Amino acid sequence: MDVAQRIKNLPPYLFAEIERKIERARERGVEILDLGIGDPDMPTPDFIVERMCREVKNAKNHQYPSYRGLQAFRQAACEWYGRRFAVEFDPETSVVSLIGSKEGIAHFPWCLVNPGDIVLASDPGYPVYKVSSMLAGGTVLALPLLRENNFLPDFSIFPESVLERTKLVFLNYPNNPTSAVAPLKFFASVVELARKYDFAIAHDLAYSEISYDNYQAPSIFQVEGAKDRAVEFHSLSKTFNMTGWRVGFAVGNTGLIEALGRVKTNIDSGIFNAVQWAAVEALNRDREALEGILPVYQRRRDLVVKALHEAGLPLDPPMASFYVWVPVPEGFDSMGFAELLLEKAGVVLTPGIGFGKYGEGYVRISLTSSEEILERAMERVGEVLRGR
Ligand SMILES: *Cc1c(COP(=O)(O)O)cnc(C)c1O
Repeated sequence: MDVAQRIKNLPPYLFAEIERKIERARERGVEILDLGIGDPDMPTPDFIVERMCREVKNAKNHQYPSYRGLQAFRQAACEWYGRRFAVEFDPETSVVSLIGSKEGIAHFPWCLVNPGDIVLASDPGYPVYKVSSMLAGGTVLALPLLRENNFLPDFSIFPESVLERTKLVFLNYPNNPTSAVAPLKFFASVVELARKYDFAIAHDLAYSEISYDNYQAPSIFQVEGAKDRAVEFHSLSKTFNMTGWRVGFAVGNTGLIEALGRVKTNIDSGIFNAVQWAAVEALNRDREALEGILPVYQRRRDLVVKALHEAGLPLDPPMASFYVWVPVPEGFDSMGFAELLLEKAGVVLTPGIGFGKYGEGYVRISLTSSEEILERAMERVGEVLRGR
């Protein structure tokens, strides 16, 4: 069968080659230490699991959920927003539940983008921004995140004619993969541009709660007027070690939220109610959950940064996210360096090129493995670099 053109247009899967190499190394008996995947290794906190167990037994939860999400879940999301960011949202009109934030991000361009409209997507970035915009018929341009700008985009690189055709901009801070954070004044400047050129902003806030040294990531809605232009995507996956549960939500501009809800009613039928009740429990007791999680990532971060320093790759410790974005040594590209570490050390890191062309020159280390594994992996990386 000949697949549709839109499928043929999708970018090639860059990690296929590296996955084959991992498989071959495993077959040779090499012990692989995988620091590639950004999936929390710690379990979901007990009190969330216990709530789930209770709700699963309630027959009322066994039927189709409402497509917008349980009232209680939307309410809990708004209350969490109020506590965390001092921003008020109406649970009736400003929130929609998502089957993980990836689902919402993937459907969002369908609400906005007409064929030929320009979408600016952070590069390096979460690949879904680009792919979903392409599927919706948009023309995707890279929004380069460069070290010299602290990995914040510089919109002045685009001519007026591009900004005038721009319909949607995807941002993500704390950022995956660069672990960069953005100050509120950056969001204020983007909101101002959005007003001037009449585009919408999709802000992916998946890592809002994963931060260190008393840093607290802002919401774009702390900027005056952002509700006219923006939607923010939230996930319980990273905050509460709930990647397998598939639950998130979007908040923001009522027209955009309504449009996203409308797309979703026509495609899916919402999230299992028992999962939504567990999510209510999580949001209401967020501090309790994070007390058990953040110090663990912080210790891992410190260990990795110290080891990189000793291996001749000094960098500033990231303030947020559970990633370390490492410039590759002189003479390598990101794929070549990742392959060297796989071949010589059995250590898997994600080559930056997998996140877009501006990811070239970096590899991403994920802190979602135990200190013991990280320590061993970093020892092996150090040996390879010293022996080079
Ligand atoms: C993990 C991740 C998500 C998606 O999380 P869900 O599990 O779909 O809620 C979204 N954006 C970024 C940047 C991520 O790293």
